[in-house]
Order: sequence, then structure tokens, then C-alpha cells
Amino acid sequence: MNLRVHSYESMGTYDGPGLRLVVFLQGCPFRCLYCANPDTIAFDGGTDTEPEDIVKMAVSQKPFFGKKGGVTFSGGEPTAQAEALVPLVRELHENGINVCIDTNGGIWNKHVEELFTMADLVLLDVKQFNAAKHLELTGKPNTRTIETAQWLEEHGRPFWLRYVLVPGISDAEEDIRALGEHFGHGKGTKNGGGYKMIQRVEILPYHTLGINKYETLGMEYALKGVPLNTAEQLERAKSLFDEYFDCAVLN
Ligand code: SF4
Repeated sequence: MNLRVHSYESMGTYDGPGLRLVVFLQGCPFRCLYCANPDTIAFDGGTDTEPEDIVKMAVSQKPFFGKKGGVTFSGGEPTAQAEALVPLVRELHENGINVCIDTNGGIWNKHVEELFTMADLVLLDVKQFNAAKHLELTGKPNTRTIETAQWLEEHGRPFWLRYVLVPGISDAEEDIRALGEHFGHGKGTKNGGGYKMIQRVEILPYHTLGINKYETLGMEYALKGVPLNTAEQLERAKSLFDEYFDCAVLN
């Protein structure tokens, strides 16, 4: 089964451990106001790609992956193509290649379940813990994302929790505390409660690198005028996360 691929990034260092081949898949059901890749959202774009082409590319880059690296499927939303990804991930594993799935956790079906069972690591983007604000920010509820986290925890599947810190949108103390109280295990008590499968919490600063793409696509950028995070805001968020997690990093 073929995949719709938007683009590739070799030697990526932001999406999972080590050096990685990042495969951006086309299509996403979310509409995040800050989406840096609005050109990956439409399901009818991208290039029809045979899984073998991705396997070949990954195998040719394997010498660079080292012990920790591998392939990350990102997007767009990769789980929208879970049915095609399952046999592809199996083949990558047969070639000794580590696989991460970078997901918003908002899609669920038997293929997604199988994919998460196989993935070496899931990078779970939680856009907002507050339900109403999540809906406003992404156009979709966060119920499924929170259930996906619960499924990963209950099935012993390691994951990273990723949180983009947008000033005035997702940086309110009460929202971060609500997230921390739900998932966190308290500093220094990693095995004493909370989500044990969360290996790392990444706080991602808000950036506007994709803003020019909106113009090209004839789309309005809804967060025009929202400033970048100040160093103080980032530090404040980091200390809040530190109250609940002993694995929080500013990325
Ligand atoms: S989930 Fe990712 S790809 Fe989809 S709209 Fe949000 S930021 Fe963009």
C-alpha cells in the first residue's frame, strides 16, 4: 500500500532521539492555528510513494543513525496512514531501524493501535490540556489524544509528551498545572505514580517559521501579532513542568 509523502528531512535532530530521517506524511485532521506546515494538511496533496522507496532511503542512511537514531514519521498526521505504515514499520524493523511516530494522538482505529504497538517511541503532541482551548486551537477535541496517552501508558509503550508553548494560547499556569496533575509523577518520584511511560517532556517554544507558507497558500495566519516567548516565559513554564515531571526539557 502506497503512502502520500509531503517531504523528507535527512539528519533531523528535533523529532526523536539521535540523527533521524524524518518522513513528513501528507494530510491532517487538525487545524492548529500555529501549524508550521500548513501545506501538509490537505489530504489530496503530497506524492504517491511506494513503501520500498522509503525503506531504501532509510537503509542508505542507516550508517548515520548510530545507536539512537532512525526514522521518524511526522506530518501532517502519520496515523491517518496507519494502515500503510504498519507493514512499512515492520520492514524497517527487519532492517534493524528504529521507528518513532510523531502524532497528535487524535485518530484511533485498529491500524493505529497496531502501529503504536510496534513503534519504538511515540512523540505525542498534546496541544492543550484544557478541552475548550484545545478545540479553539486545533478545531478538534483533545479527548482522543488524552485517551491515546492512557493507552500508551497501560500498554507499556514508551512515549515523549510534546507541548508547544504559545503566549496567551497555551502558556496559562492553570492549564500547565492541569496537564501536570493528570500526567505528572512529581519531581524525584518517577516510579511513584503518574505516567511511567513518559520518558521525556519537551517544551517547544512557539515559532513562526511557517508563516510565509500561509501567504503562498492564500491562507490567513490566525496568530498574527502573537509574540515569540520571552526567556522569562520559557523559564517560568520549565519550572512549572519541573514541579510535575523530572524529565522536562526546553527544546
Ligand atoms: S497536528 Fe500538526 S500538522 Fe496537523 S494542523 Fe496541527 S501542527 Fe499542523
